[in-house]
Amino acid sequence: MSKDKQEKQFVKEITPQSEDFSRWYIDTIKKADLMSYSPVRGCIVFKPDGYEIWENIQRELDGRFKETGHRNAYFPLFIPESFFQKEKEHVEGFNPELPWVTEAGGEKLEERLAIRPTSETMVGHMYAEWINSYRDLPLLINQWANVVRWEKKTQPFLRTSEFLWQEGHTAHEDEEDARKETMQMLEIYRDFAENFLAIPVIMGQKTPSEKFAGAVDTYSIEAMMKDGKAVQAGTSHYLGTNFAVAFDIKYLDRENQHTFCHTTSWGVSTRLIGALIMVHGDDRGLALPPKVAPTQVVMIPIGPPKTRDAVIACVDGLYAELKKAGVRVKVDDRQDQSPGWKFNEYEMRGVPVRVELGPRDMENGQVVLVSRITGEKRIVAQSQIVEEVQKLLTETQQEMYDRAKKFRDEAMTSADTLDELKGFLAQKRGFSLSGWCGSAACEATVKEETGATSRNIPFHPEVQKSTCLVCGEPAKHTVVFGRAY
Ligand code: AMP
Repeated sequence: MSKDKQEKQFVKEITPQSEDFSRWYIDTIKKADLMSYSPVRGCIVFKPDGYEIWENIQRELDGRFKETGHRNAYFPLFIPESFFQKEKEHVEGFNPELPWVTEAGGEKLEERLAIRPTSETMVGHMYAEWINSYRDLPLLINQWANVVRWEKKTQPFLRTSEFLWQEGHTAHEDEEDARKETMQMLEIYRDFAENFLAIPVIMGQKTPSEKFAGAVDTYSIEAMMKDGKAVQAGTSHYLGTNFAVAFDIKYLDRENQHTFCHTTSWGVSTRLIGALIMVHGDDRGLALPPKVAPTQVVMIPIGPPKTRDAVIACVDGLYAELKKAGVRVKVDDRQDQSPGWKFNEYEMRGVPVRVELGPRDMENGQVVLVSRITGEKRIVAQSQIVEEVQKLLTETQQEMYDRAKKFRDEAMTSADTLDELKGFLAQKRGFSLSGWCGSAACEATVKEETGATSRNIPFHPEVQKSTCLVCGEPAKHTVVFGRAY
């Protein structure tokens, strides 16, 4: 029997989060049918219910990118080895994770081709051809693509060897414009995470040891999962002239001088699906915020066979109204499953709102709305169904954000010493805002002794620390430390 079949049979009940969070995660994504393990190491299959979440993420982000002047393009999957040699830090950072194509069409290739882990090099090569004058700038391009990084440890959605993402690549006249772009995209990610995915995030700058290979500065948004661990949910890089020099991306400036461009890149990936599951899910399974949920409302007709046709006709009428109003709604009128089974099933799949309608509701001109996350039941007039459903969806979106933020805020500490941080992580997992002197050695000590890494240097820390938690010297920065996926 395949591993997949075995898993599905095994997952009769979802393991409670408090018992084993990792097991809960796998049980949930298997039971909700979001993915399958593939025969290729570290690669997963995005099944329709999982892929639809990604499509909603794509649609929303794509709209935001276009509103800010970006256009989509597509670059090749294969990158010649020589391209990687051009930017020293970049090759050092990515080399261990690159898969190589050495043979094709039955012949050995003259130059090995890497399967892209990210496209700065290919984009750099092309931008050098496309950009001539300041009139060509800024060049604002995004690509939706798959990339491959041969990760040592993988976990569905959160860290896979092949993943789906978007990568923005932009070129600018000067540092100021490029830095503005870097921040603009980080802010788009923050707003998207918080207001679309209902995931509160911490915005900040990565320390030098955690920055993107080849970047001058890397910025990230960091989210906390329900087990207190961090997920880097998105990154935005100011690349300075590093790639422009390596690939000769020059333009004739306003004074007719040849000048190197300043470039940026930024990306989010299918990791966001994992974050959604781990931030909002509970012991009953998935819980999806309405804005990203493929199905926002499920309608379940109930009652005995003799009233069935009339109830279904009534449900169909209300379904049409909701659909017309733009609600993502479906009806489950299957007869081979009981209403109780369906209630559980859609709760497990994370559908935010359930509408129940039986013969008595029909007579009274009402329906019952049930919220996935609070379990609250609302009896509302059928004539008000669109307004009431939209109201409940809006409230649910906000409630999910508020809950996630409360959870995160309560799992924050501000350890002053390494021992304090160890103690905190030992009994309660979460993030710590701690002082850091700026030395890579102290940062490495934190990792070795606690397993926590610096997540970022937040722009708006709740507290400012004055001494380094490792060496006790004056702190240069207040840093968020946490164990991470
Ligand atoms: P980077 O190009 O390294 O800045 O990565 C861009 C985004 O892709 C990051 O914000 C990560 O969240 C995500 N990412 C990086 N590696 C993986 C992976 N192996 N699987 C899924 N997502 C990833």
